Amino acid sequence: MVKDALVAAVQAAGVVGAGGAGFPTHVKLDAQVDCIIVNGAECEPLLQVDQELAKKHAAELVQALKACMSSTGADTGVFALKTKYTQAIAALNAAIAGQAGLSVFGLQNCYPVGDEHILVHEVSGRVVPEGGIPLNVGIVVINVETLYNVWLALQGQPVCDTFVTVCGEVRQPVTLRLAVGTSVADALEAAGGVTCDHPVVINGGPVMGKPVDSMEDPVTKTTKGLIVLPSDHPHVRRMRRPIGLSLERAVTACCQCRLCTDLCPRALLGHELAPHKIMRAAGYALTEDVAAWTAAFLCSECGVCDTFACPADLSPRQVYRRVKSELGAAGVRNPHRRSTVPLPERAYRRVPTERLIWRMGLESYVVDAPLRDEVLLPETVKIPLKQNAGAASVPVVKVGEHVSRGQVVAEPPPNALGARHHASVTGTVTAVGNEVSITRES
Ligand code: SF4
Ligand code: SF4
Repeated sequence: MVKDALVAAVQAAGVVGAGGAGFPTHVKLDAQVDCIIVNGAECEPLLQVDQELAKKHAAELVQALKACMSSTGADTGVFALKTKYTQAIAALNAAIAGQAGLSVFGLQNCYPVGDEHILVHEVSGRVVPEGGIPLNVGIVVINVETLYNVWLALQGQPVCDTFVTVCGEVRQPVTLRLAVGTSVADALEAAGGVTCDHPVVINGGPVMGKPVDSMEDPVTKTTKGLIVLPSDHPHVRRMRRPIGLSLERAVTACCQCRLCTDLCPRALLGHELAPHKIMRAAGYALTEDVAAWTAAFLCSECGVCDTFACPADLSPRQVYRRVKSELGAAGVRNPHRRSTVPLPERAYRRVPTERLIWRMGLESYVVDAPLRDEVLLPETVKIPLKQNAGAASVPVVKVGEHVSRGQVVAEPPPNALGARHHASVTGTVTAVGNEVSITRES
């Protein structure tokens, strides 16, 4: 497929990375590479979107991957999924049978194997430099749901829906196809309702996700999971611990055992990251070791250090997050750009996902959340103008206007990195602010 046509279709459809920061996909695909890796690792415990999509839409995914390969010049296209996703792998193998350049790569059930740096090394043996992206080593990584949205774009359909696993303390754990802008409350109701008092809803996976502020918050193009936990769950308490308390604990409880550093997945790739050093530097306000502070830019916030490694329940991740934010606010840029060599001990320091689940106290929530593929259309949606990396989009509709599902409601500012957004239901625009609110016509 001609690159310009693919990029234009994906841009017009408003496709962004369905998970993480939501990088606009048309920018990612405007590249020349030799390999595309489809990230189906879904390494966060409990999430099941990508494996469910691969089971159900393997043929569409293969079509979209071939279009992306043709457009970017890639001669290799690899679906990377954990070997335990046997049904998804079988569906993909059937869909790619006999087609040159396409394959399925089986990943171990480890965390965080879906981190792009880890994934690229596992699949290709290449090492993305510190602070770099897979493009630096000739690879585009695109996740399964994003690739499905590319396929829809090629059919002329914009991104109106988002796939979300709703699980934890709900009656019917399920993976839902939700209109973008559906409220958390409506999503939980579609999963049969909440089963605990004082629920806390985590947006994303349990390790890297964050508690939602309100049940009225909307799901966006990047929402992958809504995990309901009781407010007194140990993981919720850890997530809510104030940074001041974490710093106090760093002084009083960090024994410098360096288990956090020994198990840090990025450090094991050779990155200049040593979380035990930031605990020492931050706890005692030591400033002479500048690299200990700027290493914050290399932290992926994967959470291995605090959810798994630390015997004292301390959080180097939280400290790095704060340092990164303060360095960024002060205009400091990441100085770490080395090419690295993975450490030999990496091979036996992977974090088994089952052990992580056990450490986090999530065993009772590990159940199937099958895909319900018909879209849920609520009475109202709130479509955020900023749901992607780059600039917020600018509304192009007014209060009182009638809009149809799929109609453009917001465009990125001219020449800015951003994404177009579309109405996810047919109805009337009732408010325009940081979101475009639409009440569905009955
Ligand atoms: S694992 Fe915990 S106690 Fe050990 S060095 Fe890291 S933060 Fe300190
Ligand atoms: S969160 Fe912890 S384990 Fe993960 S990259 Fe950052 S320092 Fe390393």
